Amino acid sequence: ARKQLIVVTPTYNRALQAFYLNRLGQLLRLVPPPLLWIVVEMNAASTETADILRGMGIMYRHLVCTKNLTDIKDRGVHQRNRALEHIEHHKLDGIVYFADDDNVYSLQLFESIREISRFGTWPVAMLAQSKNKATLEGPVCNGSQVIGWHTNEKSKRLRRFHVDMSGFAFNSTILWDPKRWKKPTSALIRQLDTIKEGFQETTFIEQLVEDESQMEAIPFGCSKIMNWHLHLEAHELGYPRGWLLQKNMDAV
Ligand code: UDP
Repeated sequence: ARKQLIVVTPTYNRALQAFYLNRLGQLLRLVPPPLLWIVVEMNAASTETADILRGMGIMYRHLVCTKNLTDIKDRGVHQRNRALEHIEHHKLDGIVYFADDDNVYSLQLFESIREISRFGTWPVAMLAQSKNKATLEGPVCNGSQVIGWHTNEKSKRLRRFHVDMSGFAFNSTILWDPKRWKKPTSALIRQLDTIKEGFQETTFIEQLVEDESQMEAIPFGCSKIMNWHLHLEAHELGYPRGWLLQKNMDAV
């Protein structure tokens, strides 16, 4: 049987949300099932998000995180934790992947992560409007072995693993059946809102694996970029709520 994919997406209402969720949902629809899309919002389930999910035609769960927002720099942290809690509580079995709503993913990525046994990682391309070049971050590989890391972020050199949040996926059973993986601790695995910006990924991954020997580099030789992390700033863009037009537009 094909391994289930569990795709976790934190999201929130803003002008480009419908664009992002439609784009991602339509891609996920092309991925052979079983796939479960766990979409998590803060505070309350918005009708904007619910409407998009309902029309998508894929298996999904729309979760809400009610944890009080303190001063968090790493956005999406509590929402991802909410999804981890859900996966653990219901002992969902599959490969967990954190897919932000605004990034772009190839179909090959989802084929590749299905092959992961414990923990898989791959290089991600970062695209920012302010830079004139795509920067790459992630594992340096020899075949399917991780032998080092590449990053351009000098300020983050102290990280143990240089991986973007969208550059790894793991077996969900690590969350609720740690013995199976001979994990030294069975402490609860969560992402931490107290972690310094940029260290969120490595801190989380350090709880999933002990070192590179427990990682699988994908695709073979890490020779292909399979997803792109975008930083497009359009936070302030106004739009009709839910992209619903309450009255006729003004005719010219
Ligand atoms: N996000 C969210 N609430 C927020 C900010 C972000 O749910 O207040 C989600 C967002 O939709 C995306 C993920 O968290 O899926 C990462 O956000 P963003 O892309 O802004 O972070 P960056 O990629 O810049 O680290």
